[in-house]
Amino acid sequence: MPGRFISKRLGLPQPTPLRRYEPGQPLLQGPALIGAAPGSRLLPEVEDVLQATGSDYLTGPQAEDQRFAALVYDATGLTSTEDLSHVYEFFHPVIKRVDRNGRVIVLGAPPELSESPRAAIAQRALEGFVRSIGKEIGQKGATANLIYAAQDADIESTLRFYLSSRSAFVDGQVTRIGPGRGTPPKDWEKPLDGKVALVTGASRGIGASIAETLARDGAHVVLLDIPKQGDELAKEANKIGGSTLQVDITDGDAPREIVDYLKDRHGGVDVFVHNAGITQDKTLGNMDEGKWNAVLSVNLTSQERINDALLQNGALKPGGRIVTVSSMSGIAGNRGQSNYATTKAGVIGTVDALAPVLADQGATINAVAPGFIETQMTAKMPIGTREAGRRMSSLAQGGLPVDVAETIAWFANPASAGVNGNTVRVCGQNLLGA
Ligand code: NAD
Repeated sequence: MPGRFISKRLGLPQPTPLRRYEPGQPLLQGPALIGAAPGSRLLPEVEDVLQATGSDYLTGPQAEDQRFAALVYDATGLTSTEDLSHVYEFFHPVIKRVDRNGRVIVLGAPPELSESPRAAIAQRALEGFVRSIGKEIGQKGATANLIYAAQDADIESTLRFYLSSRSAFVDGQVTRIGPGRGTPPKDWEKPLDGKVALVTGASRGIGASIAETLARDGAHVVLLDIPKQGDELAKEANKIGGSTLQVDITDGDAPREIVDYLKDRHGGVDVFVHNAGITQDKTLGNMDEGKWNAVLSVNLTSQERINDALLQNGALKPGGRIVTVSSMSGIAGNRGQSNYATTKAGVIGTVDALAPVLADQGATINAVAPGFIETQMTAKMPIGTREAGRRMSSLAQGGLPVDVAETIAWFANPASAGVNGNTVRVCGQNLLGA
């Protein structure tokens, strides 16, 4: 790869290849070290997950040459900033011994639900700790993430996701899990068995990867794209035994057509993924109204209209999942993308606004915000810009479409009932907008 050649010649450190998930792969490739601050509440659940997955784990002091596939620390018991010393005491002796592709996970209590300001401050402080650890261990292809779990939250699907190689490119993220038990799948390798998923923009790129991943997890997938993409769409659907729906989501009739199709053929939908999106870049002064309107319409207003139709017509089945694709541009902004960034920030707004509405129906809505993902689009970038884009992340490389897809599959899991209202970046902890 010319990018790698140039970065070697420049003496830049070489990134560690990321391990990605393959069916049957063990959760961890070595032992985990687990620990907890006094008064913490989640360690028994952590042990349950490690036992259920046949993972080795250790507690307490270890031989100096012991290395770890994961460090999991339960910090839910921190009630003051003095308590942060426990975090130092656990991690300081072992952080250098995290393996390549290792995982650091800190469990905290949501600061906004704390009983006292001091507890809230201590819990909030964990974000800075975890994000810095991500930057220290990224060169090894290892990641660090923080999970804020409310009382009675079900952490299993989230813990499995962040410990596994499914989360290879998700780094430096903060996930909130609300109260309530999900439905654990009978088979964690096929969590979507018997479920119906629809993915928009599924004929290629990230959408095709999402469709493949949801099908791998057991779902019947309806792949939607514009009629012009019909051949590619059929090819993708054939690969995974899915069905196709040729619709332009900006058409006035599209929401009704989609809802009717889902209700008639499948009695509704379990997982709806808004992935279709376009860019029409120009600086604002040079952007004609057509470019502004086209991007707003595909990326944002169509989604709103489809969501309304799904919710008003009972097409989203009980325990349903809506997942939408934002972008790092929607968080950081991007020169020449005022239209695109507006829509992608609007997508995050959609998640924030609809999460309580969906919670009332026992459903969820979450977003992924991809960073630099290796696609046809990024392959066309000038080599310097491309290499810089990759190296802006803690993992010093770009992600793959499957990294976005795996994150969506975690949201879609029936056990993820408490994972609602999150926007999770799939960006390898990119510096932009972090
Ligand atoms: P892509 O252009 O390869 O695929 C988008 C798909 O959406 C295409 O198949 C297209 O035909 C379909 N589509 C466009 N308009 C449509 C319409 N009106 N109705 C139905 N389908 C329509 O793009 P991609 O790179 O795979 O991106 C997928 C999503 O991820 C988009 O929402 C994009 O904004 C987002 N994203 C991508 C990246 C990246 O690095 N590629 C980064 C951040 C976010």
